[in-house]
Amino acid sequence: MLNTLISSFKRWRKPANPGPRVIARNDHNLSRRDISRAALTVMKRLQEAGFEAYIVGGGVRDLLLGGHPKDFDVATNATPEEAKHLFRGSRIVGRRFRILHARIGREVIEVTTFRGHHSDGEEHEAQQSEHGMLLRDNVYGDLESDAIRRDFTVNALYYTTDGFAIHDYTGGVRDIEQRLIRMIGDPATRYKEDPVRMLRAVRFAAKLGFDIEDKTASPLPELAPLLRNIAPARLFDEVLKLLMGGHGERTFELLCQYQLWHHLFPDNAAQLDNPAALELTRRALRNTDERIRQELRVTPAFLYAALLWPAVNAEQQKLLARGTPPLPALAQAAQKVTSSQLAHTAIPKRFTIPMREIWDLQLRLPQRSGSRAQRLSEHPRFRAAYDFLLLREECGEIAAGLGQWWTEFQQADDEQRQQMVRNLQRGNDNGGGNRRGSRSGRRRRRPKAAE
Ligand code: ATP
Ligand code: MG
Repeated sequence: MLNTLISSFKRWRKPANPGPRVIARNDHNLSRRDISRAALTVMKRLQEAGFEAYIVGGGVRDLLLGGHPKDFDVATNATPEEAKHLFRGSRIVGRRFRILHARIGREVIEVTTFRGHHSDGEEHEAQQSEHGMLLRDNVYGDLESDAIRRDFTVNALYYTTDGFAIHDYTGGVRDIEQRLIRMIGDPATRYKEDPVRMLRAVRFAAKLGFDIEDKTASPLPELAPLLRNIAPARLFDEVLKLLMGGHGERTFELLCQYQLWHHLFPDNAAQLDNPAALELTRRALRNTDERIRQELRVTPAFLYAALLWPAVNAEQQKLLARGTPPLPALAQAAQKVTSSQLAHTAIPKRFTIPMREIWDLQLRLPQRSGSRAQRLSEHPRFRAAYDFLLLREECGEIAAGLGQWWTEFQQADDEQRQQMVRNLQRGNDNGGGNRRGSRSGRRRRRPKAAE
């Protein structure tokens, strides 16, 4: 009796479901003109076939914030099979979530069918692991059930060209105004269903400059070990979104703050007490952010080389102290750290090979006599290795000097290059350090990248 009274009191104080909020066309700043032609075509074709269709997720969120969405996702009540008939050359992909990739011209629009509650479906359509993790989630539902299956309120806003309204079932518009990442439903349960949501909370907070709402943030440190249950390949994809989305340095800080980082990069995390290792990590991420801002090419190989280097270097030093010669010491250290990382986040071969080359070149860059310098400068990975060397010098891992020598070498003509190498042999140039002094300590700018 008492329990019934308490629960009805709770219900009275806080309505269980505030109901949808429909924000009419004149009350929001989102315009059809901001949406890609392909996404509009997909919506129109679905609507003409008698289905509902909405833009949802990052597209709506980023437009409301005045940004430029990187893509548009469409949600509909058509099943993937029904939608497939409407788009020539479209494909159904995914197992955990079956979605349709609708191709319009060069653009691919992800079309997802409204999700329902798991309890509504057959056992084979929704499955959970012993940790509460959702293995399959293909139970279909309506707009409202779809909204509450999404991760954060700001990601659960729907916009349709049928009336031009925004539909908000979870308070997403309020959270956009308050700049908050808030999990829909009970945060711990939702993280257990899909631990990648922990990384997504941090990713959106860093990208949007939002705070993570207290109840959404508080389970993170305790549940962080669940990341170990995620397939390394999925984690690799997620790591790229986290660290190569233009806000890597901030993301790194938040991942450390919520104790998620050491589950992604344990070998890096173990070195962060060393100021040079922390600085290398930060600078590598900051440089990546800066390059993305300048629309320059960035590669996971370089970033992974930097993140794993402090551990490789520490291991290498240990082996050197035991008398292992430099080359095998580096090779063994690289092998050990790389395979330990692979257990956490996969790294495709096309990135591990250049990563190893960047490390190997660190041993070769000091060796510049005869024709070696010229040959090294023609190595396909020279530019990345040179940038990496500068990074190591900047964070104080090694003394400055060699980087400056290579900067000058790249700017020199053939004759000057030969002279630089001859100077080395005479032992009167330790690698640019002497000359820098004569230029009142100012660094010369790095030569422009060849890209
Ligand atoms: P962006 O594309 O800018 O990174 P996004 O919000 O569009 O951000 P996507 O990964 O493209 O993110 O996912 C699209 C939408 O699908 C999200 O906005 C969210 O509503 C839903 N979603 C994606 N992943 C999950 C998840 N793990 N759990 C619940 N909902 C999810
Ligand atoms: Mg998206």
